[in-house]
Amino acid sequence: MAKSALRFVVHEHRSKRLHYDFRLEIGGTLKSWAVPKGPSMSPADKRLAVMVPDHPLVYIDFEAIIPEGHYGAGPVVVWDEGEFVPLDTDDPEASLKNGKLSFELRGKKLKGAFALAQMKHLPKSTGKEWLLMKKKDAHALDGYEVKTELTPARLKNLKEQVPPCETE
Ligand code: MN
Repeated sequence: MAKSALRFVVHEHRSKRLHYDFRLEIGGTLKSWAVPKGPSMSPADKRLAVMVPDHPLVYIDFEAIIPEGHYGAGPVVVWDEGEFVPLDTDDPEASLKNGKLSFELRGKKLKGAFALAQMKHLPKSTGKEWLLMKKKDAHALDGYEVKTELTPARLKNLKEQVPPCETE
């Protein structure tokens, strides 16, 4: 039986502060990191990615304005999505536990090889700080700039909706 492809999503979320929620389908859930500056296609950029609680898979295509009074109030849209392919491992959960995961993304914006590496030796580490990095490959783009998907046209089509889980 062919394994169905694993998926990833990046949500652009303008709650108290704009950030990008980077989510990988691992172990039947969405492992999630908040990336303040957003992912980059440039290997020169190492982006802080703060691990946040897992989100259920149903959240993968969630787009709405989270109403005031709810956690993460503000607009959230899918910034990119596609296939997620773990590299060099059959057990991405174990790789995450060990603080390092390499993977390929097949999105519309994010393509090619990436890595997530836990920063274990920060002086004030909470254990949640990771770096999200593009690896050098044919898809890499120097001087990459994150472009917003929270455009007036998309915002106009968003409805207020309480998410299926608490979201940061
Ligand atoms: Mn968020």
